[in-house]
Amino acid sequence: MSTISPAAVPVAVQLSGSLLPCGICGVAVEGPHLKRDVVELTISAVDDPRLGIRELHPPRTLAVTRCEACRGRLERARAALEACGAFAARLGSRSLIIDRLEAVLAVEGVTGIAVRLDSPRDLTTALEHLNVAGAAALWSSRFAPVQAMGAWLGLANIAPFAHVDVEVRQAARDGLATLLRSRLLRTGPAVVPLGPPADSARRGCLLCGVAASTVWEALTASTRSLGGRPSPEAVEGDVCSACSDALVDVGSVGQTSLRRALLQHLGMTRTFALDAIEMAIVGWGALPNGTPPNAEPWAHVDVAALRRDLADMQECGYVNAGAR
Ligand SMILES: [Zn+2]
Ligand SMILES: [Zn+2]
Repeated sequence: MSTISPAAVPVAVQLSGSLLPCGICGVAVEGPHLKRDVVELTISAVDDPRLGIRELHPPRTLAVTRCEACRGRLERARAALEACGAFAARLGSRSLIIDRLEAVLAVEGVTGIAVRLDSPRDLTTALEHLNVAGAAALWSSRFAPVQAMGAWLGLANIAPFAHVDVEVRQAARDGLATLLRSRLLRTGPAVVPLGPPADSARRGCLLCGVAASTVWEALTASTRSLGGRPSPEAVEGDVCSACSDALVDVGSVGQTSLRRALLQHLGMTRTFALDAIEMAIVGWGALPNGTPPNAEPWAHVDVAALRRDLADMQECGYVNAGAR
């Protein structure tokens, strides 16, 4: 253990007895500790104010745990990834992504502003904009692999994230500001919904048929995958922002993504009823060329019948529909 220098860290808690620091926010957590939360960090070098970076032979270890609030954020990160289904698998190693999302959510603790992880797009933008600042804000990053200057073994924070310096705080705020701006650009009133790009062959979303959206993404799909009769010619066109979220989520065009997009439009949560829908959903792009686009999404589908089916299933206790 290093010598404790309360003068260097004026607001700190001395760790004694069963107290361990939270590896995320740095507050002292009273034992007994949950085994799943305790991690032994390896400190392989020390950044010494006089001697510079000095390797430790043998390395030191530091046990850290998670406080209640940080465990809650970890659970949220897990649930968010779970809810994104197939999309999550495409992000890579699950444990790595959970680590990164936990760092992303640490930005909440630093700034006091909620970070949304409600959709695949939320996940990717949060990872893109907050990952670096989040990782730098973690208590454990001051010890492993290099014990930073001013990071003392045996001390914990008196308040969550009190150790985070001005630069990292600013980086966290900058990241959040960029993220919020990008969300506003996507959904805010500043962007007027327009039809598909001028060179697009079809004038509605290939899935829901809507005529106007703030964002369009190009898509080429077979009529079969869009729920229509097989045809040798693929359908070329675009999808609206809501349907492109569903496509990113599911990973391919087909009944699953069509159902997902339609259920999301109806305000139904998650994946519960995807298999329960018996009706084959036809994407607007599979309708004959020249079919006018829809003023409202999915106007070409008998939505009332689908709602009735879902309501019946709900009565049987088969689905939990979450109305918006
Ligand atoms: Zn914590
Ligand atoms: Zn659409």
